[in-house]
Amino acid sequence: MNKLIIDQIDEILPQTQCRKCGFIGCRPYAEAIAEGRADINQCPPGGQQGIHRISELLGVPAKPLDTTYGFPRSNQVVAWIDEHLCIGCTFCIQSCPVDAIVGAAKQMHTVIADECTGCDLCVAPCPMDCIRMIPVDKEITDSVSSPADVDRKQAAERARSRYQFRQQRLAHINQVGNKVRTEKFIQPPEDNQVSAEVRKKTIIAAALKRAAAIRVQATNESNFRKAK
Ligand code: SF4
Ligand code: SF4
Ligand code: SF4
Repeated sequence: MNKLIIDQIDEILPQTQCRKCGFIGCRPYAEAIAEGRADINQCPPGGQQGIHRISELLGVPAKPLDTTYGFPRSNQVVAWIDEHLCIGCTFCIQSCPVDAIVGAAKQMHTVIADECTGCDLCVAPCPMDCIRMIPVDKEITDSVSSPADVDRKQAAERARSRYQFRQQRLAHINQVGNKVRTEKFIQPPEDNQVSAEVRKKTIIAAALKRAAAIRVQATNESNFRKAK
């Protein structure tokens, strides 16, 4: 595997880490292109500009984006969580490839908008449907030298670092063999999706049970106060 070529392809990819190309991140897709396991036109966020740059790098003909992998967006989006509905199940945190969501179990969760790549991987796992992708005031252009492009490059570099850091952290946790944490937090999103329905039902049932318990407690306290 030619690391230099992989680095150069990865440098071109937008680092959204959205998996739309069919790989678990930009780097694995870059590796697959370099090894001839993937075509150069599978990255919707990279769009036609990305395809042209990879074709020039590799000296192969450019081709249109394969839209079976999705379509490019015209505007940047970030995730937003309706904190009133959030039950703190942590599914979104587990899905976020760049650790752009903060929160703890049974507490409301928040997106760090500046770190969100707009990959939308957190939307589907949310059992409360309380995550929305909202547009930010930044148009996506094909420019390679505008201030917007410079911003995008810096954001891509940050996203790459955060993705790598997360991968290293997960690998480390797996390595030390903390079985409980591994089972609870480290399942890859594919596994999450397999049992998503069962897990959603379990989480919602638990949340409803907690809410019912709180209501009973509040009623008892109210009755107790009235009786005094
Ligand atoms: S941005 Fe998404 S589709 Fe493009 S290479 Fe990265 S993970 Fe794949
Ligand atoms: S917060 Fe959601 S949309 Fe934003 S990077 Fe994380 S998973 Fe992707
Ligand atoms: S997945 Fe939805 S309900 Fe669960 S913590 Fe995230 S935002 Fe809250």
